[in-house]
Amino acid sequence: MWRIDLPLPFRLRSINVYLVQGKDGCALVDTGIDMPDSRAAFFAALESIGIDQSAIRDVYVTHMHPDHIGLSGMHGARGATIHLMRDEEQRARYMWSAQPLDRWVGYFRAHGLDEANASAVTEAAAKLRKAVTLPDRFATLDDRDFVRLGGRAVRVVWTPGHSDFHYVLVDDDARAIFAGDHLLPTITPNIGLYPECRPNPLDDYLKSFARFERLGDYTVYPAHGKPYSALPDRVHQLVLHHRERLQGVWDCVIAKPEGACSADVVAHFWGDRLNSHETRFALVEVAAHLEYLRLAGDLSSSIADGTIRYHTESTKPSMPV
Ligand SMILES: [Zn+2]
Repeated sequence: MWRIDLPLPFRLRSINVYLVQGKDGCALVDTGIDMPDSRAAFFAALESIGIDQSAIRDVYVTHMHPDHIGLSGMHGARGATIHLMRDEEQRARYMWSAQPLDRWVGYFRAHGLDEANASAVTEAAAKLRKAVTLPDRFATLDDRDFVRLGGRAVRVVWTPGHSDFHYVLVDDDARAIFAGDHLLPTITPNIGLYPECRPNPLDDYLKSFARFERLGDYTVYPAHGKPYSALPDRVHQLVLHHRERLQGVWDCVIAKPEGACSADVVAHFWGDRLNSHETRFALVEVAAHLEYLRLAGDLSSSIADGTIRYHTESTKPSMPV
């Protein structure tokens, strides 16, 4: 198996794709973004390993974000089968099409951005469309399927939160987890509420850990950063991070007697120093935390002048275990 590091035009500078060689062909986990330097780096890596692209039979895309799915069309056009979880395709086809992202502007307005910022955030996201090429068709995966990864049988485990139908691949024989963005070693994956998403992505994310906590002696192969073990410790850190963030979001709401919208909370944490991409990630992450608290009964919401504001009468938020 090889870990191939491909460049990204984001602050998150690179992505790992994993090439696994078996007796009858290779499999790839995630693909990289479809940009010239990323393609060049991928082919240079294949050449140095001595594997031809035609040997890649199966490509497992953990979720529909551009750095994971971007080059899937290239592999599909050259004969590989591209695997995606069943219900992730719909969002992929919407995001990476020419359809206007018209729900987004209204959504960001409702969460407190002004018209100019809501449009800027949406346009910045739409610009990524040129860095994604989808295949004509996907082979669909379901939770608990067994699939072949370079000759090995691995389990598909649905891990929603960072994306609704994100999955990881678990190789129980090799004690390995191909984790996509679900369990990153040094940063917390963005858990964001989007207008077309499942209603409580943070709850999805935190509950998904129950499937991994007992897996103490596995090595995690993440899409960003170095492989690591000590998975239970990392899960503990990730839960703590979200507990702290929930407390911080809740403190921000209680400090505003008139109620706080998502953009108020973003300004509280980050001021006005975020670019358009960062504003989007911050806003959808805050919205996910606010909705988590609302659905837990700790906050209520109301709409005035088209803006969703959150309020609370309780003195302490309930917390994930
Ligand atoms: Zn992602």
